[in-house]
Amino acid sequence: MTEHPDAERRDDGAAGDAGDDGDDEGYDAALDRAAVHARAWLDGVRERPVPPSATTDEVLDRLGRTLPERGEPAAAVIDHLAAAAEPGLIAIGSPRFYGWVIGGTHPAALAADWLVSSWDQNTGLRTITPAAVAAEELAGEWLVDLLGLPAGSEVGFTTGATMAQFTCMAAARDEVLTRVGWDVEEAGLAGAPRIRFIVGEERHGTVDLAARYLGLGAPIIVPPDEEGRIRVDALRETLAAGEGPAIVLLQAGNIHSGAFDDFGGAIAAAHDAGAWVHVDGAFGLWAAASPRLRHLTAGMADADSWSTDAHKTLNVPYDSGLAIVRDGRAMHRALSMHASYLQATEVGADPHEKVPELSRRARGVPVWAVLRSLGRAGVAELVDGLAAAARGLADGIGRLPGVEVLNEVVFTQLCIALADDAATEALSERLWAEGDVLAMTSRWHDRAVVRFSVSNWRTDASEVRRTVDAVARALAAGEAR
Ligand SMILES: *Cc1c(COP(=O)(O)O)cnc(C)c1O
Repeated sequence: MTEHPDAERRDDGAAGDAGDDGDDEGYDAALDRAAVHARAWLDGVRERPVPPSATTDEVLDRLGRTLPERGEPAAAVIDHLAAAAEPGLIAIGSPRFYGWVIGGTHPAALAADWLVSSWDQNTGLRTITPAAVAAEELAGEWLVDLLGLPAGSEVGFTTGATMAQFTCMAAARDEVLTRVGWDVEEAGLAGAPRIRFIVGEERHGTVDLAARYLGLGAPIIVPPDEEGRIRVDALRETLAAGEGPAIVLLQAGNIHSGAFDDFGGAIAAAHDAGAWVHVDGAFGLWAAASPRLRHLTAGMADADSWSTDAHKTLNVPYDSGLAIVRDGRAMHRALSMHASYLQATEVGADPHEKVPELSRRARGVPVWAVLRSLGRAGVAELVDGLAAAARGLADGIGRLPGVEVLNEVVFTQLCIALADDAATEALSERLWAEGDVLAMTSRWHDRAVVRFSVSNWRTDASEVRRTVDAVARALAAGEAR
């Protein structure tokens, strides 16, 4: 598909490559080549080996390490890029990519994302970019409804769940300090009452990162139960052992077990102690969109804020996170800025007042597009399909000799182990070497595990069978050694 990059090189170095039909600025030719390469990639992604075949250093050589003195036409650059990058691309969009919770790309979201780049709308102000803001406002309202969260909650579009957590916790920090009479936006943190930031031991590592960005310091850790859920009795004890402003972080979807915290018990305990409750639901928040799985999130809507990713379960291209806050006032106090040159609407009405950035791409547009394309029933089917695939993997792989399934497979996550850590790690390496399936090792409950995260909208029953076959082959190869 890809032509040799040198075939189209020209020496005139002009940026304008005259295409056909009067395209004297180069857009048509460059976009046509991009579409050709994108389709070649998408057509091949299901069958190509999942891991990359080139190293970063090799791709550096292929791309060309020196900045050229003179330029070349955009279309030629795109041809060169596609050819040079090809072996260094990992098939994250493969339906047999189970490494980390990542997700593929739904066609409506991908195509809408191309338009977002073409339109180039800097989505900060309601009066200036009405189309992008309208799509985002609808996407936000639809999401709040789909996820069963309180109507009227504010939604900010961030790069990912890390920044969504940061965004929500910035609002939390403002609010819990306001309640004790400390204006953090005015007075800063020096001399402020210490905020107790309370988390379950099996929180995601980015939670600590968001807390660090906000100057909250190290979290207070509450022990987990066997599936990694925060222990509510221990949370109550921790809350009772101290006083002053507090933020409690709960989890919808443990990255090893997929487990959901007991929101009813934990949120009641936290609110009894006057704490703000944030839910990290980077992938698990989506369980609420499925009538079959919604029970996992019972009580979750009573929290104060929620963060999730659209680039994981919803299969929107990177990057796309969502920060949702029940009471927008704290969010605006923490994140809003004003400048005489900005044509602001009223306080809280502009997208930039809900996220850390002023300038950003129109991330809500692909979210709107995929929601419109799937509809309410389609989102539920998507989520149910991921969970069904995880159960199918657990059944199929769990039956193979020597394999132990370590978690209750309630959602999209599966952890398995073999007799000892070395054997478990070797299994993941053999899968990588064969390339048909990618699943990575982790440590859970003091053991090496191979973790399967099901996040791709195309992982169906036949992909599950093919995955089980690949694991069976890798196990047999291990036995044969
Ligand atoms: C992926 C993930 C995050 C971080 O999300 P990013 O989109 O990578 O910033 C946080 N929490 C959980 C549970 C996750 O799975």
